[in-house]
Amino acid sequence: MQTLKQLLEEKGGSPIAVSPKDTVFHALGVMAQEEVGAVLVMDGERLVGIFTERDYARKVILAGRASKETPIEAIMTAKVAYVTLEQSLEDCMSLMTQHRFRHLPVLDGEQNVLGMISIGDLVKATISHQKFLIEQLEHYIAR
Ligand code: AMP
Repeated sequence: MQTLKQLLEEKGGSPIAVSPKDTVFHALGVMAQEEVGAVLVMDGERLVGIFTERDYARKVILAGRASKETPIEAIMTAKVAYVTLEQSLEDCMSLMTQHRFRHLPVLDGEQNVLGMISIGDLVKATISHQKFLIEQLEHYIAR
């Protein structure tokens, strides 16, 4: 199985983020453009929250808020669970399953944000690992 470092390198690019004072409408535009379901909320270099499509559905639409007037900081999840590069993809999967969310920022020892992984990234890595294992076994059997 890949390491978290390899997965982030393969994804490339910098973390997709908005500012706490940005509107929900702005964040949705960024998410659409980048084709992602979540953005990090960064105050300068500091991670202060996370905002995902589920927050939009529940805390904006259902709550009757206006996306052009609501700042992200009013509805983001401020207590963000994250992982560091030493953790395995299995660790990430169990955190997501345990907490029922689909995104995890990756931070280094100095609290710098290195990137974000989604459940989709983990599924992709798992499938390709399993494919590799099956090929190895088939090769072994055919010898
Ligand atoms: P998701 O399944 O990622 O769309 O997120 C579901 C809910 O969990 C939303 O309210 C998110 O703001 C929140 N959430 C997502 N990822 C995290 C995380 N790493 N730490 C804390 N909350 C999160």
